[in-house]
Amino acid sequence: MIALNVNRLFSEIEELKDEMVKTLMALVRISAIAPENGGEGELKKVEKLVHILNEMGFDNIEHYDVEDERVPSKVRPNVVAYYRGQDEDRKLWIITHLDVVPPGEGSFWTVTKPFEPIVAGGKVYGRGSEDNGQSLVASIFAVKALKNLGIKPRRTIALAFVADEEVGSRHGIQHLIKQDIFREDDLIVVPDGGNETGDFIEIAEKSMMSFRVRTIGKQTHASTPGRGLNAHRAGMRYALALDDFLHKKYSTRDGDFVPPESTFEPTKKNPNVDAVNIIPGEDITYFDCRILP
Ligand SMILES: [Zn+2]
Repeated sequence: MIALNVNRLFSEIEELKDEMVKTLMALVRISAIAPENGGEGELKKVEKLVHILNEMGFDNIEHYDVEDERVPSKVRPNVVAYYRGQDEDRKLWIITHLDVVPPGEGSFWTVTKPFEPIVAGGKVYGRGSEDNGQSLVASIFAVKALKNLGIKPRRTIALAFVADEEVGSRHGIQHLIKQDIFREDDLIVVPDGGNETGDFIEIAEKSMMSFRVRTIGKQTHASTPGRGLNAHRAGMRYALALDDFLHKKYSTRDGDFVPPESTFEPTKKNPNVDAVNIIPGEDITYFDCRILP
């Protein structure tokens, strides 16, 4: 009996394929980037998402907005949509995130533009189509398939759509946790990582740290370096020395993690002077670090 239902469910999901692709592409078209990365946050995407959720007839949709002065809407939105099961108290959560990482250098997008998704070879390409769009859409349509077949699951299914995952989650899942909506006997699935066959389950992650190195020197004309102090050279030397130091000091390896060691990467670099013949008086470099527990 259960096997029959599962097969019915799978073919129902198959039926929904075109609608899923359409929905994913509609969401990819709306950028949702954190203010730290120069974005406007997730509100526009959430408005579209809530429209989709309403049309599908979820039992209840709750909003958990977090104030954030840095975005035009002043709000970082989090949404929970419920599909009631036989037991209303015990829940199965599926948690996905709304935000995406910035598209980076535009000229590297040679086949498609980041927010103009395309389908090629059976895959959707566009910023966030994989991380975390496909999981987000899959969670919605898993519920839709159940609803279409009139299946009431044992547990209530709660889909959480959270903000701010890419930059620390303070305005996202951390806020939801503080609202006390998760219970110890809830089941929680976070489909934000894995492999194509779906048999990779992650139970721990490295911790994240990022920092900025600001080097102050003295600006001067490049023809007379003695009159100033080149902050760019000093900043680069310091960054390279620090890079070396961190890798040597924290060199522990643990085969459960990929890669098995902590990583310390100099990444972003702020622009300094406008002209090639000016020695910069300030230099700002950033590091992204992923550290073994
Ligand atoms: Zn992700």
